Amino acid sequence: MFRPIPKATLLLALLSIAACTAEPDEHRAEFFVFGTLLEVTIHDAGEAQANEAFTMLQGQFQEMHHEWHAWEPGMLTDINTAFAEGRPATASPAIVEMTRRSQIFEQQSAGRFNPAIGALIRLWGFHTSEYPIEGPAPDLLSIDELLSFHPSSSDIHFDGLVMESDNPAVQLDFGGIAKGYAIDMACDTLKGLGINNAIVNAGGDLRAIGRHGDRAWRVAIRDPAGGIIGALEAGHDEAIFTSGNYERFRREAEKRYPHILDPRTGWPVDELASVTVAAAEGTLADAAATALVVAGLDEWVEVARALGLNQVLLVNEEGQVYLTPEMNERMEFVEGIERQVVRLSTR
Ligand code: ADP
Ligand code: MG
Repeated sequence: MFRPIPKATLLLALLSIAACTAEPDEHRAEFFVFGTLLEVTIHDAGEAQANEAFTMLQGQFQEMHHEWHAWEPGMLTDINTAFAEGRPATASPAIVEMTRRSQIFEQQSAGRFNPAIGALIRLWGFHTSEYPIEGPAPDLLSIDELLSFHPSSSDIHFDGLVMESDNPAVQLDFGGIAKGYAIDMACDTLKGLGINNAIVNAGGDLRAIGRHGDRAWRVAIRDPAGGIIGALEAGHDEAIFTSGNYERFRREAEKRYPHILDPRTGWPVDELASVTVAAAEGTLADAAATALVVAGLDEWVEVARALGLNQVLLVNEEGQVYLTPEMNERMEFVEGIERQVVRLSTR
């Protein structure tokens, strides 16, 4: 997004909401939820309607924060404790749904997206909001030990809202999908209130619905090296998500270990600087971007196809861009960006 984030005027300890009016027919609020600043901009709605929406969203985000957090004690940490002890646990409908969706993404991406590797993510120290993390990688033996249990979301079974894992090594971590699911929920809430023009944006990961007055919502795509590589116009209801290794990582002297792990090796992946995916919903776009970072240059085409995507843009460590024809058609690049169009369809 192009607009600067307005200054918060009201800050609560856990979660902040700051409503402000940017343009006469625009209302904006910021929320702080699981370590991420979420900005909601509503266009063409009355002030009372916008405030009703913000109040409702605040309640929902607060609930999500408590339910889905991977390391702050709450519903998800209780579920993970139950899995480790071989007990069943009761989940919320949202956690059940995110787990079911994740099972499908894990299968479609052949294990590159895997929300059951929470123990590995913790071992690497990525259960924190303070980046970068300083210090060496964990020792090989601990990584291999966790890998040897092959944690997979397919180990989880449901009976209504009760979840149970056959595998005590399964520890759910929704870091790669929760932002997408939260943004989808927020958009559903807005639509349910009759708000048809809005954007829900978490630092460039977003879903846009409707339009911004007489024009489409415009979205900037960040250059992992700094600045932006270009911009595009969002469709009538579309999510655009980017995963990358440039913001959250562990470092030891010059060596960087980014926060996305290859679940098959237990090690961070660093071939691609970023992957951007546009799709009809945030849940898919978020999980897919994470899966494609893991897939890397050799496998992304195959994985994108399996996930049913057609709008993908990759940036490698050298700044070279690879993208699908569908993405190339709509991107307006800044000058001097090297790019290569890659067809996904086999037809
Ligand atoms: P960001 O949070 O920067 O948008 P992602 O959406 O790619 O990035 O999510 C990264 C987070 O997902 C990590 O911090 C971790 O919690 C989790 N994660 C890391 N590797 C994987 C993976 N292979 N599959 C699923 N989740 C992952
Ligand atoms: Mg993701």
